[in-house]
Amino acid sequence: MTRIFDDDLNAAFATRAIHAGQRPEPLAGAIMTPVYLTSTYVQEALGVNKGYEYARGKNPTREALERNVAALEGGRHGFAFSSGMGCVDSIMKLFKAGDHIVCGENLYGGVFRLFDKLLGNFGLTFSWVDTRDPQRIEDAMTPATRLVFVETPTNPLMRICDLRAAADIAHVHDALLLVDNTFASPFFQRPFEFGADIIYHSTTKYLNGHSDMIGGIAILNDDDLAARLQFILNAAGAVPGPFDSWLALRGTKTLHLRMPRHDENGRQIAAWLAERLGAEQVIYPGLPSHPQHELAKAQMSGFGGMISVELGSKERANAVLSRCRLFSLAESLGGVESLISHPASMTHASVEPDRRAALGITEGLIRLSCGVEDAGDLLADLEHAFHVV
Ligand SMILES: *Cc1c(COP(=O)(O)O)cnc(C)c1O
Repeated sequence: MTRIFDDDLNAAFATRAIHAGQRPEPLAGAIMTPVYLTSTYVQEALGVNKGYEYARGKNPTREALERNVAALEGGRHGFAFSSGMGCVDSIMKLFKAGDHIVCGENLYGGVFRLFDKLLGNFGLTFSWVDTRDPQRIEDAMTPATRLVFVETPTNPLMRICDLRAAADIAHVHDALLLVDNTFASPFFQRPFEFGADIIYHSTTKYLNGHSDMIGGIAILNDDDLAARLQFILNAAGAVPGPFDSWLALRGTKTLHLRMPRHDENGRQIAAWLAERLGAEQVIYPGLPSHPQHELAKAQMSGFGGMISVELGSKERANAVLSRCRLFSLAESLGGVESLISHPASMTHASVEPDRRAALGITEGLIRLSCGVEDAGDLLADLEHAFHVV
């Protein structure tokens, strides 16, 4: 089972980002973990091997990534998957028909689709609640509840869930707390410190940071739970390839350099937008006008580069989107380059219009993923784009 090296938790974050989980390669001493492009491993004799038998079960490049991200989250075990969704799907196999899950109503659209359209067919039941209010979580708990699943900040509305309160509620009811930590990354938010049991990421986003692979990763502390997820990983097989693992690992080495810049650009751009449009139109947890700014400050050490803006109509949204040059029109987020998107027709198109409207994902909402380019150039691009509204 992939467990971190014990001494990896002693170093500071920046040192862990670069070194945790990695050891010089034994043949030549290569300082970079090689991409182990192999499906199988030669065994010395029947039952005698180096701990590797078949690459669905284990791959050294993948293990280096798993150990690295586990150390960044302050957890003991990591399991990498072929996508964020593959990761969630495998985590859900920890549960069985009849189990009940309390979910944030504003979970990632793909997670809603997976639960609503597929996993409901297998006897799992879900309640969708506004996790800004811990009482709503409490009220949804039943004797069958095994998991509380939250995302904070949420996508794209940047709602914050009080992680300590959610963990306490889950634990009083003998349930686990699962946190989607994709938006904040472990650089700004470490949910284990607030009592979470499982953390997962779409590594596609900030962890990789270069928009060149798709992947997911789950981090756990509990040995038994980790053994069960390891079994699922091998049995269900949603594993990442070694090259994608290597790309994600290359990304995590600079996480501590990229995140402060995303945050700096995010703050500057959010402040500019608030000034230009009025603070009510700009949704960014780092703005004092964000209704949960104090909670965000208490459980995050920075706010990152994700900003949503309410423009009032699809026409106005489209006018701005189509005038951006440096901000590229695209789904996804967390890369070094800045992106702009229209959630209602892009990332959240799979959510029915009524539900979208109830959540507050309007036709006039746009979402910015501020990259790490020069802030002046990004602001000039927005200045030009927002000129029309
Ligand atoms: C992208 C994303 C996912 C899904 O991950 P994939 O790698 O695209 O499968 C889950 N949660 C959040 C918050 C995301 O942004």
